[in-house]
Amino acid sequence: MSENLVEVRDLVKYFPITQGILVQKKVGAVHAVDGVSFDVKRGETLGIVGETGCGKTTTARLIMRLLEPTSGRITLDGEDITALKGAALKPVRREMQMIFQDPYSSLNPRKTIGSIIAEPFKIHKIHTDDKERKRAVQDIMEQVGLNPEHYNRYPHEFSGGQRQRIGVARALTLRPKLLFADEPVSALDVSIQAQILNLLNDLKDELGLTLVMIAHDLSVVRHMCDRVAVMYLGSVVELATSDQLYEQPRHPYTGALLSAVPVPDPTRSKTKERQLLVGDLPSPTNPPSACRFHTRCPKAQPICSEQTPPLELKDNGGLAACHFPLTADEVRRSVPTAEAGTPAA
Ligand code: SF4
Repeated sequence: MSENLVEVRDLVKYFPITQGILVQKKVGAVHAVDGVSFDVKRGETLGIVGETGCGKTTTARLIMRLLEPTSGRITLDGEDITALKGAALKPVRREMQMIFQDPYSSLNPRKTIGSIIAEPFKIHKIHTDDKERKRAVQDIMEQVGLNPEHYNRYPHEFSGGQRQRIGVARALTLRPKLLFADEPVSALDVSIQAQILNLLNDLKDELGLTLVMIAHDLSVVRHMCDRVAVMYLGSVVELATSDQLYEQPRHPYTGALLSAVPVPDPTRSKTKERQLLVGDLPSPTNPPSACRFHTRCPKAQPICSEQTPPLELKDNGGLAACHFPLTADEVRRSVPTAEAGTPAA
């Protein structure tokens, strides 16, 4: 059995832009995901991080086969699932589930939580006996910290944190191998964010799940993830273990994101040179040439707009796509989370 549960190779998704009233003509394309390659190892938590619109959710939806890729290859458990269609996709969908960002809008307000959680059972014709299904749903409710006696209550009767637990329960009904959590705590109060993150961590260990955490905030994924992929304008620009990425980032974009993370220690904070990102995120309909970060990068040189840097091994042991990666000294000066600055490898 391969150590990789999922393998993604050169994944591309362009959304066509059309114009015209009677006849729709293609006038361009949104380059949402452009040549993304990475693996998800069995049992790990992989973070996918980047600004809004960088393609992280589209990548997850492509892997789940909720969107049709423009090109590229997706393998799940050694099986190429890229071209599967219709009924052939049903068993694949069972293996991968998603927890959505907004626990308010992702639950049907007219249904009891019992029927919301039981829905996947009905779709996949599992536990067809009513009593058996109710017992199975109540077991899952207990597992995620919900009172099984609240089976007949409606979503509005629950708090935000409890609603997210309902979303987690629904995602677990089919015992998937891979769980995507798309910004699972960003709509919740800070006070309950940690509870949901701890719940996901515990369930991952208990059920042997593989988890992909999608977030725009680097500080949320730090303590959850074994490895983190940083995306910028549809491409992965850095992929490394959490320690490599947070202590010794090599891509200037990762450095800028980390530099913006607030530091609780004012003395430490004062000694750092903040590396703020200048300018807006360029349009994905017309992304910059070669290195897409060159329009905002403080280290950009002429070659950066001429030659695309490959995602390759750097001296910290991780992968980064950059012609002039950050040095240990630059990291020490600008990244508040970095320690002494000694490369890990
Ligand atoms: Fe900056 Fe050049 Fe590296 Fe791109 S390749 S991140 S522009 S230094």
